Amino acid sequence: MLVQRVVLNSRPGNNGVPVPAHFRLEETTLAPDLEDGEVLVRTLCLSVDPYMRCRMNEDTGVGYVTPWQLSECVDGGGVGVVESSRCSACSEGDVVTSFNWPWQTKAVMKGSALQKVDPQVVDGHLSYFLGAVGITGLTALLGVREKGNVTKGANQTMVVSGAAGACGSVAGQIGRLDGCVRAVGICGSEEKCRALVDDCGFSAAINYRKEDIPAKLQELCPDGIDVYFDNVGGGISDTVIAQMNNNSHVILCGQISQYNKDVPYPPPLSEEIQETLRRNNITRERFTVLNYMNKADAALCELSQLVKSGHINVLETVVEGIEKMGDAFCSMMKGGNIGKQIIKISE
Ligand code: NDP
Repeated sequence: MLVQRVVLNSRPGNNGVPVPAHFRLEETTLAPDLEDGEVLVRTLCLSVDPYMRCRMNEDTGVGYVTPWQLSECVDGGGVGVVESSRCSACSEGDVVTSFNWPWQTKAVMKGSALQKVDPQVVDGHLSYFLGAVGITGLTALLGVREKGNVTKGANQTMVVSGAAGACGSVAGQIGRLDGCVRAVGICGSEEKCRALVDDCGFSAAINYRKEDIPAKLQELCPDGIDVYFDNVGGGISDTVIAQMNNNSHVILCGQISQYNKDVPYPPPLSEEIQETLRRNNITRERFTVLNYMNKADAALCELSQLVKSGHINVLETVVEGIEKMGDAFCSMMKGGNIGKQIIKISE
C-alpha cells in the first residue's frame, strides 16, 4: 500500500529559524501483511509543538526527547483510527492516540504503543485529544495547580505570556476558574487579543508587537502580579517579573522566544532578574508535564468536563493535508496559530 510521509530533509542548526524546506514529503510502501501485535492505523490529525524544535537539532539538549534523524519519518502527537489489527488490545474502528505518531497518512504501529481513547470524552472533536483534552490542556491545568499557588478569595492577578496559544489560552481560563480575579494575556496580534478577551474570559490582553508592555501591565494589573504563566521567556518575561508582587510565583512552562538559539534549557536569567526574584521572594520553578503523568487521568477527566460544560473554550487553528506539516510547524513557531495548531490528515 502506497502512503505519504514527511521526513526531516535538513537541520536548521542550533541557531537557525526552521523553514518548511527542512521537511520533505515522500511516498513509501507499507508491508501488505501485519505481524503479530501490529495495527494498521489511518491518521486523522497530527500536532505540531514547540518542543519539536529541539528534535530538529542533532542533540536535543534534553534527556527525555530524541532527535529526529535525517531522511527518516518525523513523529509527534497524533490521533487515528484502527483499520486492521493483529493486536488483542485494538479492534477495527477504535480511535487511538500516541505521542510518537509518524507523520504519515497511514502507518503500521505496535498496538502496545497506542492508547485507546473514547470520542465521547471530547464530544467527537478528536483533535482536542492533542490539545485542550490532551497534553497542552494538561500542561495548563497541572502547571497552574502545581506551581501557581492560586488561592480562591486571595484577589490574585495572573499574567500569561504566549497567551493565545494552546497552553496559554487554557492556562488563563484555569486561572480564572481557580479563583484569580484577573487574567491578563500577552500575545502577538490584535486578533489574538480579541479572542482572549471575547472567547476565553481573559480580563484584558496586550499585543507585545505594538504596545508598551510595562505601561500596559501597570494599567491592567493595578494590584501587581501574583502568578505568571511563562510560555516565552526572554525580554517579555523580564518585563513581567519586574512587576511581580512579593511572594508571587512564576510557572516556568516554556521559553519559546529562545528556542532558535543555541542556549541551554532553561536559558540563564540576567543577574538583575535573578536579584529581583531573590529580593521579592518570587518562586520560579520549572514545570514539566511529563513528571506529573500520575495525575493525568484525573486531570483529563476534569478538562473534558470543563470543555463539555463550556467553562473552557477551546481555540484551534486547523490546516488540512500532510503536505502542510512543515508549513504548519514553522508557522506555529512564529505565531501563525490561534489556540492549538492542528493538521487534519483525513476524515
Ligand atoms: P503555542 O500554541 O503557544 O504556539 C507557540 C506560540 O508562541 C506562537 O503562536 C507565538 O504566539 C508564540 N511565540 C513564538 N515566538 C515568540 C517570541 N519570540 N516571543 C513571544 N511569543 C512567541 O504552543 P504551545 O501552547 O504548544 O506551547 C507554549 C509553550 O509551552 C512553549 O514554550 C512550549 O515549549 C511549552 N510547553 C511546555 C510543556 C511543559 O511540560 N513544560 C508542555 C507543552 C508545551 P504570538 O503570536 O503570541 O507570538
